Amino acid sequence: MSDYTNVKELFGCDVFNDSVMQERLPKKVYKELKKTIEEGKELSMEIADVVAHEMKEWAIEKGATHYSHWFQPLTGVTAEKHDAFITAPMENGKVLLSFSGKELIKGEPDASSFPSGGLRATFEARGYTTWDCTSPAFVRHDAAGGILCIPTAFCSYTGEALDQKTPLLRSMEAVNKQALRLIRLFGNTTSKKVTPSVGAEQEYFLIDKEKWLQRKDLTYTGRTLFGAMPPKGQEMDDHYLGTIRQRISAYMKEVNEECWKLGITAKTQHNEVAPAQHELAPIYAPANIAADHNQMMMRILKKVASRHGMRCLLHEKPFAGVNGSGKHNNWSLTTDDGINLLEPGKTPHENIQFLLVLTCILKAVDTHADLLRESAADVGNDYRLGGNEAPPSVISVFLGEQLEDVLEQLISTGVATHSKKGSKLQTGVKTLPDFMKDATDRNRTSPFAFTGNKFEFRMVGSRDSISECNVVLNTIAAQAFKEACDRLEAAPDFALAVHDLIKEYATDHQRIVFNGNGYAPEWAEEAERRGLPNLPSMVDAIPALTTEKAVSLFEEFHVFTRTELESRAEIQYEIYAKAINIEAKTMLDITTKQIIPAVIKYTTVLAQSINAVRAAAAVDVGVQTSLLEKCSNRLSETDKAMGVLADAVAHIGDHPEGRERAVYCREKVVKAMEELRKPVDELEMLVDKEMWPMPSYGDLIFEV
Ligand code: ADP
Ligand code: MG
Repeated sequence: MSDYTNVKELFGCDVFNDSVMQERLPKKVYKELKKTIEEGKELSMEIADVVAHEMKEWAIEKGATHYSHWFQPLTGVTAEKHDAFITAPMENGKVLLSFSGKELIKGEPDASSFPSGGLRATFEARGYTTWDCTSPAFVRHDAAGGILCIPTAFCSYTGEALDQKTPLLRSMEAVNKQALRLIRLFGNTTSKKVTPSVGAEQEYFLIDKEKWLQRKDLTYTGRTLFGAMPPKGQEMDDHYLGTIRQRISAYMKEVNEECWKLGITAKTQHNEVAPAQHELAPIYAPANIAADHNQMMMRILKKVASRHGMRCLLHEKPFAGVNGSGKHNNWSLTTDDGINLLEPGKTPHENIQFLLVLTCILKAVDTHADLLRESAADVGNDYRLGGNEAPPSVISVFLGEQLEDVLEQLISTGVATHSKKGSKLQTGVKTLPDFMKDATDRNRTSPFAFTGNKFEFRMVGSRDSISECNVVLNTIAAQAFKEACDRLEAAPDFALAVHDLIKEYATDHQRIVFNGNGYAPEWAEEAERRGLPNLPSMVDAIPALTTEKAVSLFEEFHVFTRTELESRAEIQYEIYAKAINIEAKTMLDITTKQIIPAVIKYTTVLAQSINAVRAAAAVDVGVQTSLLEKCSNRLSETDKAMGVLADAVAHIGDHPEGRERAVYCREKVVKAMEELRKPVDELEMLVDKEMWPMPSYGDLIFEV
């Protein structure tokens, strides 16, 4: 293992990053490649050959034997196929190690086994992976040895995107172009590029591997399908930011090392609200790199857990009644020369460019709230959103006191004349330094909160790719910027026009701003009055992908074609139905093979005890009898509920694949699952712990 003290040396040591390229590539080649990376200039095959050769030499020095095009198909996980560097043996029986520009640039995995939503009939299942040179290659070490991983995009023969990355790159181009137009209007002639910056805070649970193995629900579905609440839950709030225990600290140390080696800036780690729940956040990076890094980080979290005898749960809701896990997607727009377009400065009311950007984003989010909600739709997230722990399934924007006040001034009088200031924080203790508070407090209940100089989108599920939400954010921002620029560029008096535009956007899209408590039930009603969409389930959210509004948005900015959107919707429905099918079947399996036998055993013991006690003495057996009655009643309820669920599952196939099947699963199967869970969880509270066939919630989350 590497030396923890030498973080500087460790950081990025397995990454083919800029300094490695600069050092190893001939100057001319390096320059050409930089042009491709920075300006999107096409890469010639000669250059690619040189880069590939050097990349291979470097990777071999790092211990790599294979290379792999690493991509993110729509399965939700990453995909890779390893090819050794060896070539066919020469006459003397020896082999050479080679890697060509062509192999670097293009791969051809069999696309037929990846979800395509009908984009490619399987008989012509050609798919290509193409090198994304803007995200650096890296060498990954695990049981398979060293693998040179090349981040790639994955498209069909006809160029349709089959992955998460392609649309993300397209959306980054779209927002770059429109944001540049916008800053030019304000006299910026020097910035060359605007990039969405993203920092994704990752939440996860750690549980003991031995216990995990005893829970079929966790092993098959990633979440518990049964489980009564322990006497202590998270109500004491004593886990959040609590002292990190030694076993977990050792784990985090290794996770950090692995992240750093791969150039992932793992920065902040802490205990989360729920027992056994933790968080890891990197420093923000360009959106596509952040998305790659997040995938790598999830893999590292899992791999290291297994080395420490634990399991890392990335499911959005592993335990009912306990907070689930999400991923906070922090998003801003940064120029190549370091200007953050979301930086309000000390006096936002005077910062016209900021106010325009801000109101454009309000407009974008209000117009496309359904799409943003959809981007966080995920089977597991259905159990989390709106559960008093995560943002509700209604999208709104939190701006905070200061900006809301500026906006109000704009709306009511047309001009904003002042910005509220943060006051001094006074602790009343002389030895503690006083400092200026932020002008705005935090609101943890908002799905889309302005947090100083960035927006934090908090709906994304912990397991999900962050690509989807960033595709939406980038594209809707591009559209709002474009519409604003179209008008401002044509206006005879810029100052007047921009002033009017800001006021117009602020007024028209005021309804999306909500600074109150997003967890309160009143908010759902209020949101409805405001006409904001409330899409509680993934199945309700998917149609947002294919509305005429969505199609024209994505087509205008060349992010998705109609066909691509339709195929994505199709895939989402399929994923949903399949996941529910697996969960339901797992429930039936556990009930039949574990729960019912255990309860029968227990009731037999009770019955025997009643008889034995009665025979021995004339004493009261009321307790045993009442327990036996309760258990037997719950047992027959369980049996009945199981019958209903089995029947519901048996009919899944009657419904055509796609929306109909997903709706059926949502309406019938999920309901039946909930009904089965109730008596089983009650039984868990009645049956002798020794006889209960699996570890309890208490065992799982309090004894890691
Ligand atoms: P908070 O306390 O607001 O959650 P942190 O400093 O912990 O803030 O940051 C959370 C995440 O947001 C980190 O990944 C951080 O790098 C990222 N972040 C900070 N500033 C920006 C920015 N301007 N754009 C995008 N992400 C950012
Ligand atoms: Mg945060």
